[in-house]
Amino acid sequence: MRLADIKWLNITKKPMTLIYKINRSQRRRSIALKVTAGELYVLAPQHASTAAIAAVVEAKAAWVRKHLERQRVQLNRLTPREWQSGEQIRWLGMPLTIEVLRGTRKQVEQVGDRLRLTLTARSPAATTAYQLVRTWYQAQAQQWLDQFFKQWQVTQLMPIGWSVGDFSSKWGHCTRAGALRFSWKLWLAPAWVVHNVVIHELCHLREFNHSPAFWQLVARYSPNYREAEQWLRQHGMTVLNNKFLDYCEAAELTGK
Ligand SMILES: [Zn+2]
Repeated sequence: MRLADIKWLNITKKPMTLIYKINRSQRRRSIALKVTAGELYVLAPQHASTAAIAAVVEAKAAWVRKHLERQRVQLNRLTPREWQSGEQIRWLGMPLTIEVLRGTRKQVEQVGDRLRLTLTARSPAATTAYQLVRTWYQAQAQQWLDQFFKQWQVTQLMPIGWSVGDFSSKWGHCTRAGALRFSWKLWLAPAWVVHNVVIHELCHLREFNHSPAFWQLVARYSPNYREAEQWLRQHGMTVLNNKFLDYCEAAELTGK
């Protein structure tokens, strides 16, 4: 924003219209607002009226504008990712430099510390690159999990299956039936953090809660779980955010 624009905003003080996306849910009992990555989301009960939602947004408008403004300033400091050669992405916390080539067949391969994306002449570069990278992460993460469970000796804690999906609000999930599912974005984090999340979900096979007994079990198989939880609190929401990969290195993802 140029200085002239800022002055103009200060003089008029005309409030911007707030644009928001409504997420309705059967389980929700009250209307809540969430400001994330410079956008406003309304979490509402299934049958909340648009008038009721608008009233809540209006009542919280000052709070929303303050947070939106702060996040937009932060976002403006980031460099948008264009999925071009030279940009970096992390696999298990280690930087991989992206290399974009043109070829006759779409493919992704890791060559040392490079992630080589081959796009065809007709593919729209950015969208295709993102899809290729996501598919690569999902396949690699699945292999990582297969390897992990091949070595996992604790037979009392063995899931009936494991898979990798695309969550935007959680790292992992354990079903009542005993299957584990993880977000592919988890593998952007350092290996010791990934390991901890897998242990966390595994321990839900015995303790389907977050009771002291559950945390005791987690500590037995993942002694540094507190540091891992801390890492996720610090960087996690950024990584899980849908827009995370729209920017180059939005967070410090260095492992230890
Ligand atoms: Zn849990």
